Amino acid sequence: SLPVVAIVGRPNVGKSTIFNRIAGERIAIVEDKPGITRDRIYCRGEWNGRSFHLIDTGGLEFGGDDEMLDHIRHQAELAIEEAHVILFLVDGQAGMTATDEEVARLLHRSNKPVVVGVNKVDHPNHREVIYDFYQMGFGDVFPISALHGTGTGDLLDRIVELF
Ligand code: GDP
Ligand code: MG
Repeated sequence: SLPVVAIVGRPNVGKSTIFNRIAGERIAIVEDKPGITRDRIYCRGEWNGRSFHLIDTGGLEFGGDDEMLDHIRHQAELAIEEAHVILFLVDGQAGMTATDEEVARLLHRSNKPVVVGVNKVDHPNHREVIYDFYQMGFGDVFPISALHGTGTGDLLDRIVELF
């Protein structure tokens, strides 16, 4: 079976956008109706001749902060169980948040390889926003713009190295 890459991160960091870009087609289902649970969505990706399954862990993104955090934790735990490599996505425009640190703690406990993508770095002169995220202790941190598709090559090179 193919290696599994799970995209984990708090709401709105760009998980579905990067998922769609890697999938090369608009597979992630955007469900606007409140109360509808969006389950994890799978697709098949390929990079440098290596095929893999990709999971978008997006889900319920409403309710209070506690509910949101519980949901992220649950989704992350499911994804972590299945994943060979975790793509931990954060938002370079928002900077590091308490929720990011919470997710980081979970991921450290998993003992799975984690690659950090700092998304929304839309301009090369904004790259310095990545440095704070080194504190999370996952090693290299990759600036990307899921919107423009920049930086994703280096990120994917690293991910497929870890299979
Ligand atoms: P998710 O909740 O983590 O799945 O995030 P989405 O993929 O739904 O993206 C949340 C918002 O961030 C949307 O408005 C996207 O258009 C926007 N977004 C995603 N990637 C980028 C990016 O690289 N740059 C900028 N400026 N916005 C982005
Ligand atoms: Mg999403």
